[in-house]
Amino acid sequence: MNDRSIKTVVVIGAGIFGVSTAVQLARKGVAVTLLNDGPPANGASGRSLSWLNSSRMRSEPYHRLRMAGIDRYRTLASRLGLADWLSFPGGLTWDADDASNEIDAAFRHEISLAYDALRLSAGEIATLVPGVDSSTVPQHGAIFNPGEGWVDLPSLIKLLLAEFQALGGVLVTEAGAARVVVEAGRATGAETADGSRFAADAVLLATGPSVPAMVAEAGQTIGDDTPVSLLVTTKPLQHPLKAVLNTPRVAIRPAPGNTFCLDAGWSEKEVERHAVGSYGVRPETVQGLLDEASRVLEGNPKLELAGYGVGRKPIPGDGDPVFGELQAIPGYFVAFSHSGATLGLIAGELLAYEIATGERHPMLAQFRPERFVAKA
Ligand SMILES: Cc1cc2nc3c(=O)[nH]c(=O)nc-3n(C[C@H](O)[C@H](O)[C@H](O)COP(=O)(O)OP(=O)(O)OC[C@H]3O[C@@H](n4cnc5c(N)ncnc54)[C@H](O)[C@@H]3O)c2cc1C
Repeated sequence: MNDRSIKTVVVIGAGIFGVSTAVQLARKGVAVTLLNDGPPANGASGRSLSWLNSSRMRSEPYHRLRMAGIDRYRTLASRLGLADWLSFPGGLTWDADDASNEIDAAFRHEISLAYDALRLSAGEIATLVPGVDSSTVPQHGAIFNPGEGWVDLPSLIKLLLAEFQALGGVLVTEAGAARVVVEAGRATGAETADGSRFAADAVLLATGPSVPAMVAEAGQTIGDDTPVSLLVTTKPLQHPLKAVLNTPRVAIRPAPGNTFCLDAGWSEKEVERHAVGSYGVRPETVQGLLDEASRVLEGNPKLELAGYGVGRKPIPGDGDPVFGELQAIPGYFVAFSHSGATLGLIAGELLAYEIATGERHPMLAQFRPERFVAKA
């Protein structure tokens, strides 16, 4: 049930934010049309490391939102039972063995928040976190966060879309790119490249890295620090690593079918930008990631490339999420954030609440799009 006059909503973008919000709205009895410019999960959500966490330092409101995000995944995991695409094996993190090492400060901060954290020496890792070559862990040791996990977003999106469609939600993927229609100062629906019009009481723009440019067409500003990213997936391999690893040269996340997903800051920087939306990935970069991963895994197994995903990774200008209605254009809602795996379920829940009820949820108070207007 929804308690204001919002009966129809158009959601643009079938990544995790769009799909999660769409299904929550459908559960409330709202008629939702979800528009995507291709198959669902064909953006950042289809090539994400998807480590579910609130590790390290950030503002308290952001930490709370992430913890609520993890909470929703725990509920889903207990409802699903065994699934090979959602798991909470914990996360192990260590820093470089140089002046940049912040493991001490990070650990103190996490403990101060009661974020589940264990400080482990290299020797202790073998018993608590199987699958790691502990000789690569520096003398400062590592932090193990037993409550962290990972999700395979395409699998989650598929599950949510099945429910969305069973509730009567309409998914349109063949109509090309969509844009928000603004008439008389408010969002009234969307128009797709093939000329189709979709009228609605409210619109959610959830087009991942394209959000800032799309709101700019309506004269609005959202700060943008979106980089290009690279995610490498390995061929199947029997290996004892279950936890997510975050190490100075590579992050490793187990994935369905006994595979691993890998990414790293340095490898992102090596991606070449060609024409708009096209990228070049050098074989040396991919091999470098496979080698770095092999180095930190127990037994230093030979890792083989199954495939990679390359493209933009949405990151707002100040690093914090951007959720909610544009104050200048009633009915025009946005979702634009990094850590969209961790936030995916909670963001959909809170955005659907705001769209359906017209109330602004206090958990999103620090993450409003209008904060960029003052700075513009
Ligand atoms: C390499 C990498 C590592 C990451 N690691 C983590 C992590 O460890 N933990 C974590 O929590 N998060 C992580 N993230 C972030 C997380 O994956 C993203 O924040 C999240 O997937 C963004 O989802 P989205 O729905 O905003 O965007 P997307 O998944 O990009 O979805 C947007 C959709 O909109 C469609 N679209 C775009 N323009 C239009 C248009 N005009 N009309 C119609 N459709 C359109 C696109 O095709 C796409 O399907 C990572 C991301 C990447 C890329």
